[in-house]
Amino acid sequence: MRPLVATIDLAAIRHNYALAKRCAPGRQAFAVVKANAYGHGVREVVAALGEVADGFAVACLEEAAEVRAVLPHGRLLLLEGCFATDELPEAARLGLDLVVQDAAQLDALLATPLAQPLNVWLKLDSGMHRLGLGADAVRQAFARLRQAPQVGELNLLSHFACADERGHALTEQQVEQFLALLDLEFDQRSLANSAAVLTIPAAHMDWLRPGIMLYGATPFAELSAAELGLRPAMSLTAQLIAVREVAAGESVGYGASWVAARPSRIGTVSCGYADGYPRHAPSGTPVLIHGTRVPLAGRVSMDMLSVDLSDLPQAQVGDAVELWGAQLAVDEVAQAAGTIGYELLTQVTARVPRRYRG
Ligand SMILES: *Cc1c(COP(=O)(O)O)cnc(C)c1O
Repeated sequence: MRPLVATIDLAAIRHNYALAKRCAPGRQAFAVVKANAYGHGVREVVAALGEVADGFAVACLEEAAEVRAVLPHGRLLLLEGCFATDELPEAARLGLDLVVQDAAQLDALLATPLAQPLNVWLKLDSGMHRLGLGADAVRQAFARLRQAPQVGELNLLSHFACADERGHALTEQQVEQFLALLDLEFDQRSLANSAAVLTIPAAHMDWLRPGIMLYGATPFAELSAAELGLRPAMSLTAQLIAVREVAAGESVGYGASWVAARPSRIGTVSCGYADGYPRHAPSGTPVLIHGTRVPLAGRVSMDMLSVDLSDLPQAQVGDAVELWGAQLAVDEVAQAAGTIGYELLTQVTARVPRRYRG
């Protein structure tokens, strides 16, 4: 069997969910499990949190159906609403909380008789300008939906563009936009993603929407997951499958982009970009062997990557290699590769087996 596995620590995910809740006492929280629970396996994560989470959130109907298969009851929020009118009956059948983010979704909802009323979350575009209605349109939608038979709770939701940059001026404007609508009697309000859960109490409202923090990665560039008290949920572990000596002046890997500056000991690791390891990670990006960081050497290939073991003479074939995880933060690897932890976690491909503990 190929020595590469993503070990998922479900106890860490429960710990991180509890931490989100402790940030905002008395509030409820949708655990965001879109994109296969950020790559961690949606079924297992939902099963692990099913007893403790107040609700879950997903990006589309297909993901909602997967969650419902594990969790027949409980609140399940469809973050972007339905993409077409013909999805509404299925949304009703699944008993979803439904975002309504534009006029077309609003008209479709009002024109479609449903088997049961749904909790509706009107989405305000408070400044991100990706999805959502403007403030006036929210007011008009509120009036039209208040008495509609399709609507159970009528709620307000918005999303931050810059909550991960502490003190960003846009965040304050977005909170103000949101607060300015609260003369309308919404049943529930939701504004906070992980970054806001962790650092913006004024945005906590009634329902939190933590995503990345559940998986033990940080939404911030300047604040590590460890500093936030988060526990990493995924450890991506491969093996040294070959070791060789390379003379000074010899190159390693595709494009011969890495050239040994000294006689070097090069290890070959059983993980590549077809597993989701970022191909653009430059030489020098750390991997962990025997608890020690060693640098990537040369280009990442499809199934393998190379590391410079010259300063770790005890490393040998068969040794475990942590690409990221419990001892090497995914955020550190992401930063080296010019991306964010979110991308690395969600890009671990299906050929990497997930093992669960906790
Ligand atoms: C993905 C998503 C979240 C979770 O964001 P994190 O930064 O991962 O906490 C919250 N709300 C909406 C609307 C989202 O799309």
